[in-house]
Amino acid sequence: MTKVLEGKRGLIVGIANDHSIAWGIAKCLSEEGASMYLTYQNESIKKRVEPLSQKINCLGIMPCDVSETSSLENVCDGIEGNIDFFVHAVAYSDKNELAGKYLNTSKENFLKTLHISAYSLTEMTRLLSPKMNNGSSILALTYYGSTRYMQSYNVMGVAKAALETSIRYLAVDMGDRGIRVNAISAGPMRTLAGAVINKSRQIYNYTINNSPIKKPLSLDDIGKSSVYLMSNLSKGVTGEILYVDNGYNKVGMSIQDLSSI
Ligand code: NAD
Repeated sequence: MTKVLEGKRGLIVGIANDHSIAWGIAKCLSEEGASMYLTYQNESIKKRVEPLSQKINCLGIMPCDVSETSSLENVCDGIEGNIDFFVHAVAYSDKNELAGKYLNTSKENFLKTLHISAYSLTEMTRLLSPKMNNGSSILALTYYGSTRYMQSYNVMGVAKAALETSIRYLAVDMGDRGIRVNAISAGPMRTLAGAVINKSRQIYNYTINNSPIKKPLSLDDIGKSSVYLMSNLSKGVTGEILYVDNGYNKVGMSIQDLSSI
């Protein structure tokens, strides 16, 4: 049987290790026949990305710091030929500000968080645009803390709101070439970025206990949904935020026995 992404080529930014959501996506896309360039943020992450790249259909690995325009330009120059998809799975904020009150967010960290976690999608899309085939697919990763208060998520929630709004504006700007722009809103995952959030273990367990499907979300759950968004199966879908969170966002009241209250 033909694989749904046979012949598709792309770029994935955001693998730090084998727990990264971007790694789950890379594996699933590769299993469906896609090949891709990977990037690493710095030399210590390169040591983890290199061996992972050998397990999938990898076209090459490149350094990429999304806060540096010259680094993004180098990534674009390093891509041979055209691509059909781009995955943005990048976020950063000062750990000290992912605890306590949002009120105390510093200007410096606000700007840095928004730059790395939101603006970088827009800048990369613009720079990659000449290399993208018509009908390509772009995917970013977001979280429910963009639309609702979530303990400790703070400025990252503001950045994800900007990212999700960017998805809608980019969907229009790229739509004339049939290029689709979507995001997956993933439930809490045990990754490096996830662990930086204060009380992440408790938030993780609370979410499992209060979701319609009460089990940990897997990298494969997110990877499989990304296959749908990267493929022609979703050719009429753009500007969309697809929740892959075991249904947590659909529950308005925490699921517990009310008889004792
Ligand atoms: P992760 O730590 O594995 O990945 C985050 C990546 O961002 C790392 O690879 C890191 O190198 C990269 N990064 C940070 N600053 C960068 C910079 N300046 N230049 C280039 N790369 C940079 O964690 P993850 O949870 O897989 O995060 C991937 C995406 O998924 C993020 O956008 C995150 O907000 C989102 N997300 C995570 C969760 C979760 O609970 N873990 C839930 C929903 C959405």
